[in-house]
Amino acid sequence: MCAARAEPETGTCADPESMKILPAKNTPVDTRNRPLRDLRISVTDRCNFRCTYCMPAEIFSEKYEFLPRRDLLTFEEIERLVRVFAELGVSKLRISGGEPLLRSHVDDLILQLSSIEGIADTALTTNATLLPRMADKLRKAGLGRLTVSLDSLDDAVFRKMNGDKLSPAEVLEGIVAAEAAGFTQLKINCVVQKGVNDHTIVDLARHFRGSGHILRFIEYMDVGTRNDWNLEQVMSLDEIVDAIGQDFPLIPLEPNHIGEVAKRWEYADGQGEIGIITSVSKPFCGDCSRARLTTDGTLVTCLFANSGTDLRGPMRDGASDEELFELISGIWSARTDRYSEERGQMTDAARQDRARMEMYQLGG
Ligand code: SAM
Ligand code: SF4
Ligand code: SF4
Repeated sequence: MCAARAEPETGTCADPESMKILPAKNTPVDTRNRPLRDLRISVTDRCNFRCTYCMPAEIFSEKYEFLPRRDLLTFEEIERLVRVFAELGVSKLRISGGEPLLRSHVDDLILQLSSIEGIADTALTTNATLLPRMADKLRKAGLGRLTVSLDSLDDAVFRKMNGDKLSPAEVLEGIVAAEAAGFTQLKINCVVQKGVNDHTIVDLARHFRGSGHILRFIEYMDVGTRNDWNLEQVMSLDEIVDAIGQDFPLIPLEPNHIGEVAKRWEYADGQGEIGIITSVSKPFCGDCSRARLTTDGTLVTCLFANSGTDLRGPMRDGASDEELFELISGIWSARTDRYSEERGQMTDAARQDRARMEMYQLGG
């Protein structure tokens, strides 16, 4: 057993001291001059919801075989990779899934990750249903920010979208638990699908105005291959701003920082702000600094990628931290991804033929 760190269940021992032999911080940039800054980690492929746009119930039935435990990255493996990513310049982490709060003791992982040198910001995206029993632990573990997904306050609409699992009231209870634990300015994500929940977005705006939380509308995206996406179902930035603005006038705001995914608008009467994530109508590939790590340890450089690079295999075969550093740096340096910019020029057939990884593997 390594003295410096508990041995991973299956793999090699990574001594934190060995990180000292790595090159000085040397953030790679990709072929479009985009640095590697953010890492999204999917900690489980399982979920207690069956959102029709992500894990439709007809496919993800009782019989669906999720990853066996041995295929999941262990916490030690995730921590080791995050140390390497931090050496490469990653300072922001987002923990996601599947439903990340289903991964046992995820708060222990957050404690490990948030104390890594160079990691300035640790966030988590959740459907909130387990927050009543987890929010306190997450806060104590050092989680900085929480994003909660909530597509509608209308019970029937929400249930239709989440596979008839739970009601909006249960998500709101999760939000109350997060507030009680000390989380402030939550982001509330709503995926807008025309003909499904677009008629309920003004109610969401009304509910969260003045709450201190930031409601973010996400244009419905063609992630994965299982949701029969088509452009007619997308409510665009302009349509969303029009719909909300009719009841609550909005003023555009400047981005907080380069690479911010949401376009910002504030309520003219000072009751806070909303964000709109415009992957379809106004792509933001030019500033995209996000890498993704799947539950089984595949490094993916775009939400719409059809494949990635296995990091778990080399790690379990004994690769050193320096070798992992070089591997990740090389992948990022060769990155060319700009799918959302290309989407508009693709025919429906070309788009549908293109293999893509699934949202729950990539963590959103
Ligand atoms: N289970 C957690 C949740 O729902 O918050 C975390 C994982 S989920 C994959 C992350 C985010 O991706 C959620 O906010 C979800 O609404 C969003 N999402 C999933 N599929 C999407 C799609 N096709 N288009 C836009 N957003 C999507
Ligand atoms: Fe689960 Fe989140 Fe996907 Fe819905 S969007 S099925 S809550 S992982
Ligand atoms: Fe980044 Fe790919 Fe999305 Fe473009 S399409 S913003 S490259 S994840």
